[in-house]
Amino acid sequence: MRILVTGGAGFIGSHLTDKLVSMGHKVLVVDNFITGRRENLEKHIGKDDVAIIEHDISKPVYFGEKIDRIFHLASPASPIDYQKHPIPTLKVGGLGTHNALGIAKFHKARILISSTSEVYGDPEEHPQKETYWGHVNPVGERSCYDESKRFAEALMMAYHRCHGVDTRIARIFNTYGPRMRLNDGRVVPAFVSQMLRNEKLTVFGDGSQTRSFCYVSDMVDGLIALMEKGDNLPVNIGNPQEITILEFARRISEIAQIKSEINFQPLPADDPKRRRPDITRAKTILGWEPKKSLEEGLKETISWAKSLNRI
Ligand code: NAD
Ligand code: UDP
Repeated sequence: MRILVTGGAGFIGSHLTDKLVSMGHKVLVVDNFITGRRENLEKHIGKDDVAIIEHDISKPVYFGEKIDRIFHLASPASPIDYQKHPIPTLKVGGLGTHNALGIAKFHKARILISSTSEVYGDPEEHPQKETYWGHVNPVGERSCYDESKRFAEALMMAYHRCHGVDTRIARIFNTYGPRMRLNDGRVVPAFVSQMLRNEKLTVFGDGSQTRSFCYVSDMVDGLIALMEKGDNLPVNIGNPQEITILEFARRISEIAQIKSEINFQPLPADDPKRRRPDITRAKTILGWEPKKSLEEGLKETISWAKSLNRI
């Protein structure tokens, strides 16, 4: 198939591109490199199976040759990135999703968007099921991201209902692995780089807030399964193994066998207190569940970070 991946030069998008190429597909990457990097696609440069198009998907783009599938992943994703670029974040969720849906409608292509656990906001239901409507601050610092993704989901449903476009909505929970930017502020690259520099680990608040971390290869398999086997209603894709951030700091030091102290810092506004996906729907309709343990995934991420020789 010919597959369009918006945001294909980013962390998840580049791993997805690798996997799609290994399955024999041709991939068109559209990326404006606002948070992505060409080096993530290094091994494909100059080869026939991947075309890289530098373009902001918030502006229209047309393709002559038939497109069969679209993974619309373009969006700043780390809290530091989207708070630095709130307007491009709102535009890519709104205008970018609209343009991606226009391409899907024209080519009769199936389209998947990377929505997020952030649509649940600071959840009052735990673990989060897809039926939960969320608890989102519409004007807070995270709202540019949360509301852009909620709007994107609404747009997908409208195109599905009005134009019969074959749509998929993946609600992605915290995902980590090689190729995250070490300074993107997300907790995994932050702790890994601090640890390798023998610095204290910056735990925000008292560290009692929880997250559930999914390794990137599991995420890519989940996205492809959803594209091929899913239906048009949202599906949580993530790892349900939940851990407090303070415990996570201890685990990562233990796994790397590097003793690190903790530097407690203020908790950012609207930081969700608990987050864990209920993945019953993904298991039932996709036959998917994550395979990689936190220990294995962190070992791979730490050894990748060491290999960069940038620390
Ligand atoms: P990332 O920042 O590494 O990748 C995003 C990519 O999108 C980058 O290459 C960036 O340059 C590109 N991009 C952004 N705006 C664009 C635009 N207007 N036009 C073209 N390209 C644009 O982030 P990621 O972690 O790989 O996230 C990928 C997707 O998954 C995002 O949509 C994000 O919201 C979603 N998601 C990720 C996580 C996670 O934990 N990583 C969790 C929930 C949802
Ligand atoms: N966090 C932290 N120290 C850091 C970076 C993040 O304690 O250096 C916390 C953050 O407050 C949040 C959790 O780790 O509770 C996950 O943060 P991240 O930015 O990775 O993703 P989020 O799930 O908040 O989007």
